[in-house]
Amino acid sequence: MMSAAHATIRASDAGRHVGVLADDSFEGREGGSRGGRAAATYIVEQLTKLGIPPAGDSGTYYQPFGGMRNILALIDGSDPELAKEVIVVGAHYDHVGYGNADNSYGPFGYVHNGADDNASGVAGLLEMVEAIGHLPERPRRSILIAFWDGEEKGLLGSYHFLRVAPQGMAGRRVVLSVNLDMIGRLRGNRLEVYGSRTAHGLREIVVQANNRPSHAAGLDLSFVWDIEEDSDHYPFIAARIPTVMFHTGLHDHYHRPSDDVHLVNLPGIEPVARLALGFVAAVANDPASIPPFRGECRTESNTTRNRLEAAIPDTDGSPRGRWGIGTRNDSGEPDAPVIIRVWRDSPANRAGMMPGDRIMAIDDARISSHADMLERLKAAGTTTVIDVERRGHVTRLELSDTAP
Ligand SMILES: [Zn+2]
Repeated sequence: MMSAAHATIRASDAGRHVGVLADDSFEGREGGSRGGRAAATYIVEQLTKLGIPPAGDSGTYYQPFGGMRNILALIDGSDPELAKEVIVVGAHYDHVGYGNADNSYGPFGYVHNGADDNASGVAGLLEMVEAIGHLPERPRRSILIAFWDGEEKGLLGSYHFLRVAPQGMAGRRVVLSVNLDMIGRLRGNRLEVYGSRTAHGLREIVVQANNRPSHAAGLDLSFVWDIEEDSDHYPFIAARIPTVMFHTGLHDHYHRPSDDVHLVNLPGIEPVARLALGFVAAVANDPASIPPFRGECRTESNTTRNRLEAAIPDTDGSPRGRWGIGTRNDSGEPDAPVIIRVWRDSPANRAGMMPGDRIMAIDDARISSHADMLERLKAAGTTTVIDVERRGHVTRLELSDTAP
């Protein structure tokens, strides 16, 4: 049962990992430093305890580069063919040490514990690894677990990995990556999801994972379209590999000595790790091939998104149409048109439909395109059941085409 695996993802375990990694004795885990090496030793101990085979160089967990080390482990896929395809799930474990004018908002010279950035992501990933071991069946595609070093020095670890394949990756290729960076400040249940438009269909897989009751995620998802070179998702996107990043948002303690464990929302790590696991498991087991990289994502931004999703006011006197909705096609998600207009006193309005909702299914049939949606709306009876997605939640609305 997926739920049995999810039950192994625990705030208390995550809290233990964050507590160790964000302790002053690790001196802020700067890449190449004594504290950084101590953090690596702790992570390798956890992987050894969990029994995940190493995938670094020379049969070890380590992929050394420039005095730093990525830590890599591989969960081999159960399907002989699909096992050649690798999903990389990563989190950087380094931070900025004592901080300086280049990497800290100050004060400098004090240990920057980086509890949220990114001990939280490391903890979430370790909890995911444990949970994968409790899945009813080993995933069909291979999953590479990566703890990146040198992220704070310019994404050095993830860039190195993409430039120089570790020996443990021989004969395999990366088809998708997932990045956990700063998942320790869940506020109001709101999770930022980056990169959903790097391949068609990723948003839907995330939404499905968020809505499966056994996943116990149920987060408010904020899909961010901006793509910046500010975490380990970027080198993958630059290498044209579909990539999704989960992030609970910035805060006043970001890159300051005060990013401490007592400010981390440990229970909040649970739903994020469960969502990430549900997403990874779904992709890893999907018999269909992983959709190709969508180059257009590089030129899209939140501005593009705001333009696409902008509501049209219900005042221009144009005819209402049967259900009272206006939609806009999204070339990035053609099977989830956006509602941009809901007429007053219309069936859609009475059912609670809102601009910004995305139509996913009509009368239990998945939408395949904007034209398909229009066809189905036309063909529907006097009542129709429409599944819409709103901020990552799927809501079922019943529209009735009769006078109120
Ligand atoms: Zn970070």
